[in-house]
Amino acid sequence: MPHSPPTPQPHGESMAQATLFEKILAGEIPGELVYEDAQCAAFRDINPAAPTHILLVPRKPIPRLADAGEEDVGLLGHLMVIAPKIAAAEGFGDAFRVVVNNGADAGQSVFHLHLHIIAGRPLKWPPG
Ligand code: AMP
Repeated sequence: MPHSPPTPQPHGESMAQATLFEKILAGEIPGELVYEDAQCAAFRDINPAAPTHILLVPRKPIPRLADAGEEDVGLLGHLMVIAPKIAAAEGFGDAFRVVVNNGADAGQSVFHLHLHIIAGRPLKWPPG
């Protein structure tokens, strides 16, 4: 009996479901964008932890900081350069916090790497 050809299986990035943040960047889900360029975009957090709470998201859907590789060094550096500019544009160039939660036990709930930019109130240390 002849073998039938194998059924194509979903695999690889092209078949992966878009993340929530990819959908916001694509305009498929509403978001209040405050910055965008070829590598990243930033929008207001829907549940702000401070008067200014912005999420800076690379267009590349790296799930967690721990999943970034050497090939992402330039992208990560770009995010770190852009974050202070966004804080400054919000009027908090001298006092802001940048946070990356890595993994569910560290508070990560959306598995598309993002920098939280938080400002506009006194920020205590250490965080909870
Ligand atoms: P994390 O818990 O570090 O993964 O951060 C995810 C953040 O995304 C949280 O601060 C949420 O409030 C925020 N968030 C979830 N859904 C949306 C949305 N639709 N628009 C804007 N921010 C969102």
